[in-house]
Amino acid sequence: MTTTIALETMTTSTPAVRMFERTADSLRLDGATRALLAGSKREVSVRFPVRMDDGTHRVFTGHRVQHNTSRGPAKGGIRYAPGVDLPELRDLAMGMTLKSALAGLPFGGAKGGVRLDPRALSPHELERVTRAFADELADVIGPDRDIPAPDMGTNERVMSWFVDAYARRTGRLDLQAATGKPVELGGLRIRRDATGHGVAFTIDLAARARGLQLRGASVAIQGFGNVGLATARSLRAAGARLVAVTDITGGVIRTDGIDIARLSRWVQEVGGVAGAPGYDALAADDIFGLPVDILVLAASEGQVTPSNAPEISAKILAEGANWPTDPDADATLRDRGVFVIPDILANAGGVIASHLEWSGLGRSMPDEEAYAHVRRLLANAFERVTAESTLVAGDTRLSAHRIAVADVLTSARLRGVAA
Ligand code: NAD
Repeated sequence: MTTTIALETMTTSTPAVRMFERTADSLRLDGATRALLAGSKREVSVRFPVRMDDGTHRVFTGHRVQHNTSRGPAKGGIRYAPGVDLPELRDLAMGMTLKSALAGLPFGGAKGGVRLDPRALSPHELERVTRAFADELADVIGPDRDIPAPDMGTNERVMSWFVDAYARRTGRLDLQAATGKPVELGGLRIRRDATGHGVAFTIDLAARARGLQLRGASVAIQGFGNVGLATARSLRAAGARLVAVTDITGGVIRTDGIDIARLSRWVQEVGGVAGAPGYDALAADDIFGLPVDILVLAASEGQVTPSNAPEISAKILAEGANWPTDPDADATLRDRGVFVIPDILANAGGVIASHLEWSGLGRSMPDEEAYAHVRRLLANAFERVTAESTLVAGDTRLSAHRIAVADVLTSARLRGVAA
């Protein structure tokens, strides 16, 4: 039950499409060159039946979108969430192409997912869904074609089932068909924290560029999962003070500082930050208007919009999540003097670590050397973005996208597939 959808170009005006148009206009790309990157290279949609614990069968829908492979095999996560759909995955896949290029990695971009609520399935049901999905995708993915990784709703456990199903189906036993695996299956110890570590590192670079002292700076974080928590820990290590956190359940605030370890234990016990003892409650939407130095978006897409952007007074806005800001809000943020660290730069630490895992380069690296590698690539990308931003009136998102699009096109031209 596999459908390959041949796309001309994407027609819906999603954030990625609008951002690509802004970038293409700025680089004065011609129509044929635009067409190469405006849409996905390949989209696969599958429907597959899975036996549930009660003996009934349920049919699930999943997708894998490969945006571009000019620089190497496609790379990108698999998410399990009730709202998974093609427009969202297309934006995320394009973001992966650009993020990998900006970081200088030999990867293209992809994203996939299955429409389900992972909390509503048992571990056995999740395993059967994962194995069936891997089986459906086996013909279009693989270590040298398209390499999945964890994303929202998936984790190391899911990746272990995924590579096992792929290996059984194809006879390829090297387990490089996915990254974000447990260390015992070739995963990298730093992978789980690499994204947050990188977000905090780019905030440090931005603070230096803005003449802001990180020591004592106040921080608010939206999203307290993998990325939000690791960012909070790294920022605290640099002397910053976490004053507010929101997640899907609500929020907490305390101006003299939140105890990260205690809040994290509470979240593990009850599933979210709301109601954590010792803090005042914060309505989820009130996080945008807080008078903090640094605002970190580490939850999901579409959080900052043209309507709430005028509330933001943080000096630095760091995008740990993918597409958390509507590009149409950028002008307002710039007018308000907010330094935006765009997602394809801020959260690239994860894919850099994934490259160390996939290539085997990280296998014998001490953790500190692997983190240093992540920081080196991020520092290089940050420097390019800030230098380029002087050409585009300080628009850091446009600057990052111009660099990434230009690098992807250079690869495509060298391969003879773009003029
Ligand atoms: P996660 O599932 O571990 O955590 C997500 C957090 O966001 C949770 O605290 C959840 O409650 C909160 N959240 C979700 N929707 C929300 C909403 N509407 N309002 C407020 N809070 C909300 O996920 P994660 O791995 O931390 O990823 C977070 C984001 O970062 C995602 O957009 C993901 O695609 C992106 N990202 C993750 C990685 C990685 O390595 N995990 C790498 C790059 C980008």
